Formats: sequence, C-alpha cells, structure tokens
Amino acid sequence: MNVQHYIGGEHVPSVSGATFTALEPANNEEYLTVSAGQAEDIEAAVAAARKAFTEGPWPKMPAQQRANVLRKIADAIEKRDDQIAALECRDTGLPITQARGQAHRAAQNFRFFADVITTLGEDVYRVASAQLNYVIRKPIGVAGLITPWNTPFMLETWKLAPALAAGCPVILKPAEWSPLSASVLPEIMEEAGVPAGVFNIVHGIGEEAGAALVAHPDVPIISFTGETTTGQIIMRNAADNLKTLSMELGGKSPLLVFDDADLDRALDAAVFGVFSLNGERCTASSRVLVQDTIYEEFVARFAERASKVKVGSPDDPATELGALVHPEHYARVMEYVQIGIDEGARLVAGGSRPDHLPVGNFLSATVFADVSPKMRIFQEEIFGPVVCVTPFSTEEEALELANDTRYGLAAYLWTNNLRRTHRLAQQIESGMLWVNSQNVRDLRTPFGGVKASGLGREGGKHSIDVYTESHIVHVATEDLPISRFGVS
Ligand code: NAD
Repeated sequence: MNVQHYIGGEHVPSVSGATFTALEPANNEEYLTVSAGQAEDIEAAVAAARKAFTEGPWPKMPAQQRANVLRKIADAIEKRDDQIAALECRDTGLPITQARGQAHRAAQNFRFFADVITTLGEDVYRVASAQLNYVIRKPIGVAGLITPWNTPFMLETWKLAPALAAGCPVILKPAEWSPLSASVLPEIMEEAGVPAGVFNIVHGIGEEAGAALVAHPDVPIISFTGETTTGQIIMRNAADNLKTLSMELGGKSPLLVFDDADLDRALDAAVFGVFSLNGERCTASSRVLVQDTIYEEFVARFAERASKVKVGSPDDPATELGALVHPEHYARVMEYVQIGIDEGARLVAGGSRPDHLPVGNFLSATVFADVSPKMRIFQEEIFGPVVCVTPFSTEEEALELANDTRYGLAAYLWTNNLRRTHRLAQQIESGMLWVNSQNVRDLRTPFGGVKASGLGREGGKHSIDVYTESHIVHVATEDLPISRFGVS
C-alpha cells in the first residue's frame, strides 16, 4: 500500500520522491509506504491553502453553507465507519471495538461544529447612544494541524472540524507512526464538496514536515497535540513568526479513591481509565491514589481485574488491550516496567509479554503498587498499559500526591462526601476533573491542561476562538469629544 500527500485537491508524491515505511503493530511487518514531506512539500501545500484563503469561496461562505458541507463530511465518515475502524486498528494496534467508537466520535465532531458555527453570534458593546462597538470574527488564515498517533482519526477530526467550521483552509500533518486512517479523508472531503485547496495533508517525519509547517510564515496558527517536549520545541520554533498556538500535551492524571466511595464503580473506572485505548491515552488515569483504610483490598481487586484484561489481536472483537503502536514505543514502555521494578515498586499484575502473543508489541495490563512520588514511574508519562497505585491517609495527603507531578491534564475523584468534592475540585491542579465518573466528554466543554499538559483550551466555542481573530469595529453614533491638539 502507498499513501501520498494531498495538496490542492491532488494526491501527490514528495517533490524529492522520499518515502518512509510504516509497521503493523500486531506483527511489526512493514505494510505501508508513505510519502515523506519536506519543506518544499509544505511550501506547495501552503501555496494551495493560501490561495483557497485569499481567492476561494470557503472563508467567505455563509456559516450555514459551510455547516452543510460539515454535515456531509459527518455522513461520509459514518458511511465508512467500518473501513475507518479497520484501518485504524491495523495501523495503531487499537482494539477494533474501541477503534469503531473513535470513528463514530469523529463524525460527531463535524456535526457538532456545524451546529456551533451556525449558532454563534458576534458581540456588540454599546456605549449609551454615543458609540457602537462590534466584533467581527474572521478566520485566522491557513491552519497547521499537527497530530499524534494515539486515536489518530478522532484527534485529526477534533482539529479539522472547528478549523474548517471557522473558515480556515488547513494543512494536516498526521503522525508518522499512524498515517493510514487519514488517507480516507481526501475522498470524504471531495464527496462532501470541500473546495480544492481547503483541505491538505502533508505526511512526514515531525522534525522535517512538522517543523517546516511550524516555521512557515504564512501559517498563522499551529494546533498541536503530542508530547510536552515536542510542544516546547514547537513553541520555540514558532516564536519568530509570533504564531497562535494551541498546545494539548502529555498527562499523568490521578484517580483518587476515598473509602466512602462506591468502590465497585471506582474500580471499574480505574481499570477502564488506564487500560482502554491500550493505555495510550493522554487522559489515562495512570496514578491511582487510594485511601489506606481500603488500600490493600483495592490493590488486590485491581490486580485481579488487570490480570483478566484480554490482551489479543487488535482485530479480534473480544480483545480489550491490543498492540502498542510501534516497537520503539514498546521498548520505552517495557523500560519503564523495568524501572518500576528497579525502583522497588511492587509488581502485582502483568509486567511482561503474554505467552500466547510471541510477536508484536503486546504487554499484559500492568499494575505497580506501593509507588512513591519520588519514583520515575509516578512522575513520568509512560503512555501504555501501566498503572501506579499509591496509598494516602488524609485528604491533605491525597491532594499533595495528586498535584505532585509536572502535568495537569485530567483528574478523577471518587468520594461520596459532597463538601470534600468541592474542596478538592478547587485545589486539584488539572484542566479537567471528573467526579464519580469515567472520562465522558461533552463536546461543548473546554478541553485542555494546565502546567506541562498544555496551553489554551479547545472544545465548543473555545475551538472557534482558536481558529478565528476577533476584529473590533468602533463606530461613533454621536459626535464624541476630540481633544484639539495644535490649534493655538
Ligand atoms: P509527539 O510529540 O512525538 O508527536 C506528535 C506530532 O508532532 C507528530 O505528528 C510528530 O510527527 C510531530 N512532531 C514531532 N516533532 C516535531 C517538530 N519538531 N516540529 C513539528 N512537529 C513535530 O507525540 P506522540 O508520541 O505522537 O503522541 C503521544 C503524546 O501525545 C503523549 O504525550 C500524549 O499525552 C499526547 N497527547 C495529548 C493529548 C491532549 O489532548 N492533551 C491527546 C492525545 C495525545
């Protein structure tokens, strides 16, 4: 199979002819040749997108008309959801049942932003009868969208839908470890009637294609999702051109369990929160903090459930935990397992490749207990099916542990104490908190992190803010006083 760039409505190879190969996580065999974009390919994509921005109908189209196209994109995704799920499953190693959910969510993203854009007003500020100030929202320009390999199709659409809704032509740079599912987007866009040049894809290595996109002066916004260290590099590289940046970065999210909680539900949420999506989930509850009065019992139950999580071929509908995305990532996750053992954490489940899966990037659901905050496995994002469990005795200690990392993306709180809920909700350092709930997202709400987990918010109208400029027009409706300089 061969995947090329999509620029100005055409599938094209790299100007240099360069390619790279992608591996199938379940067996690590090469199965895909992908065009490797470089600066000249980004240049061509920016030229096409810039033309669509300055001359094309898309940015000026009435919102209702753009929304109609977005709804057709959603229909076209839904029509192909089995195909998209199968590609995603093969490309990333995600279990097929979970890949299907992601395709469904991708369609929802387009429908949702179609609604947002048609219901969005623009602000007016009236100063008595003297002045009328009104805000015009303008698409910001060509948007550079740089996405990671975990749930790639869903995350690509999470950026594409609001950027297109706002009227921006886009250049998508998918992650090099998961280029496949994006390859269905050109056909979808064409079927829905997106004009040529509005939607472009340049594949390639981050440090080449991604960096060229970040450096390009005609791309005023970069929306990035990925690792914190990559985000820092992008911020430095974007500084010369003073770009708008939206940064959705890493996480090491705590799940706090107090002894007054519904422990059965807390356990379900803890197991699902870290082992779903292969544990390759930015909001994974990878640090489970448990009150000491219930600690040993909770650890034993957690370990038992983890040992029963079904690890298997990603295309098997019974599989709960598939193959990690790439042998390099697999080696990194396995290294963390060894680090946890060397640091003296208690391995109570998993920690190795399941016997029945001799090839591919498979790891059993892994639980470390007695993890102290000084350990690297407590502090660093592992991004795999590995969880740390740590005891606490008081609410103060729980809060201290929850906030004791550089990250602050999500947090989960399990307690039936109402006052404690609101006390902690105000003090936990995270962009998002779920109380007595697993990670269920309402598309209207702000999504993003604090500390090393990100800058800015997307979601609902926050996403539209990212992709638009607010232009304020001040109109005098009476003769306002003007100081008269230079008259005497
Ligand atoms: P990554 O940072 O390695 O890569 C992300 C993207 O950036 C890829 O497309 C890559 O090619 C590109 N890239 C790499 N170097 C670049 C550079 N110098 N300039 C421009 N682009 C560059 O991340 P990953 O390993 O693909 O994804 C996993 C990470 O993403 C985890 O840290 C995870 O927490 C994070 N993530 C965050 C969220 C969120 O919403 N906060 C969601 C999903 C994933």
